[in-house]
This record gives sequence, C-alpha cells and structure tokens, in this order.
Amino acid sequence: MQFADAHSDLGILIHQVGTKLAQRDILELYFAQMKKAVVPLSIVQIGGDFGQEDLDYRDRGIVIKSMNEVGKEISVNQPDFEIVTEASNLGNTIKSNKHAVILSLEGSSSIDAEFKALDALHQQGLRCLALTHNSTNQFASGCEEKVDKGLTALGEQLLDYAKEKHLIIDLVHIGERSFWDVLDTTQLPVFVSHSNSKRICNHFRNLTDDQISAIAERDGLIALNFISEFIDTEKATLDGLIDHADLVIELTSIKNVALGPDFYAYFNADWEYVEDVDNPTELYRVSDKLSERGYSKREIEAICYENIFRFMKQYLR
Ligand SMILES: [Zn+2]
Repeated sequence: MQFADAHSDLGILIHQVGTKLAQRDILELYFAQMKKAVVPLSIVQIGGDFGQEDLDYRDRGIVIKSMNEVGKEISVNQPDFEIVTEASNLGNTIKSNKHAVILSLEGSSSIDAEFKALDALHQQGLRCLALTHNSTNQFASGCEEKVDKGLTALGEQLLDYAKEKHLIIDLVHIGERSFWDVLDTTQLPVFVSHSNSKRICNHFRNLTDDQISAIAERDGLIALNFISEFIDTEKATLDGLIDHADLVIELTSIKNVALGPDFYAYFNADWEYVEDVDNPTELYRVSDKLSERGYSKREIEAICYENIFRFMKQYLR
C-alpha cells in the first residue's frame, strides 16, 4: 500500500531547521518515515497565516525565505524527493521511485496586491494556494471568524491570477460565506486538504454536507484530517475517522475522498491524533481499518493514494 498526503507541514519544518529553530534529526526522521511508509506524493506547505516558534509566516520575507530553504533542502540533501510542478513530471517522478512534493501556501496574507510575491513563489514552484487560515485577511475570511465578510475585491483578483497561472485552490480553513463566494466567482479546480464532516463532528474547521457536495461537483477532493478534535468532540477512534469517510463518500463518490492527516507532532507533541496515528509509519492502520470496514482493495487504493494522484495529474501545470 502507498499513500498520498494532501497536507504536510514538512516545508515549515524544513525552514525551521534552516533557521536553527528545529533539530535536523527531527527532519531526517520525518523523511525516513515517509520513505518507510511509502508516501510518494505529498502536498507540502511552505508557509501560511500562522506563527511557528518565533517566525510569523504572514510575513512576506519569511515566506520567500522558507520557499528558498525548501527548494534547497530537497534538491541538495534529499535525493529521493523531488519538487513537482507539472503533471508530466508527476508520473515520471513517482515511476522512478522518487517522492513527489507539490508546494502549497496555507493562507495568503503574505501576498501583496500586485501579486509580485506570488509571481516569485510561482516561479519557484508554488502550485497550490489556500486563501486563508482561520482568520480574515485581505482576500477572504477564515472559518474561526464570528463574521465572515466574504471574498474581497482583491480576493477576486487573486482568483483571476490563480486561473492565469493554473494554481490549484485549497478551500481548507476558509469561512463558509467566503467558501461559497469563491465557488460563485471561479470555475477553478478546488479541493479541501485537511477537514472532516461537520455533521459528524460539529467543529468550526469542518465542512457542511452542502460544502462537501459542492466540492465534489467540481470534481474536487475532501482529504480527511487525523487530529482528534476534528473527528469526534469526545473520544476519537479510527472507526470514527472511517465514519467521516463513509459520509463523504455517501454524499459524493469514492473518487472524492482522500487523506490529509495534518501530521504535526514534531512541533507539538500535545496535539492528539486519532489512536496515536501521528506520523507516516502509522498510516497503514487507516488502510487496515478501511479494509476491516468492508472497503475493497481498489477503493482503499483510491482513498489512500490514487484520488490525489489523479487530481494533481489533471490540474498541475
Ligand atoms: Zn491547517
């Protein structure tokens, strides 16, 4: 079994190691875990609208530095990994037994109104973009805001820019009104990289049934998050995680669900993951549980890997 990870903070970890805020052995362990678990495809964040240690990734200069650091680390120190920017390279990279890394930004506060920073990031390989994190920025509102002001005029321009450059939009963390504004404004491919069902677990980070259905209507993906509080308000279990998969599939199809575990334990050991599935080497327990719950081998491969591969193969440019 192989896995694709729709949301990895590996890029932040690389940058933190580069700035000496994190230990290199933690990073090497994580790369080793990805190899051991067979994770040949990951969507990796270079920054976003949040702070980590002493660094604020809303700061343009820091995001540019993080992008440089990620590019350098992967090209110089990680011969088994490759940054992929085009669909044609994706299959070849994986066929040659390398791990494909697709770069993403989890919140766009660092982007200027002329999109010069975005030009630079795109040239360096950025291919996915979340408009917000949990808060409001110049483009849209996040899902934790009491009042969602919706997509701004500049947000509309950002979507035009994304269309021109073939950036893939990640609607994770966005507020509900802003979410619908984005879908009303653009026909761009969209996915949600690490969220679950609000009907099962009523958390502001999760998605309503209507949102899940609308993403699927765009042929998009909903990648499930493994952090306990997004699975169950009380005790999260692997069965509970599969309940989210069941519901997403019931509302959409087997082609629209994927995994976005949000592994982050290397930064914060206090974060609770479902039944301690907190790093790539534990992913097999999710595929085992899918099997136990009656999913066929083909369906498990679709959820664990093929759906993200196919989506990226279709839309990466
Ligand atoms: Zn996130």
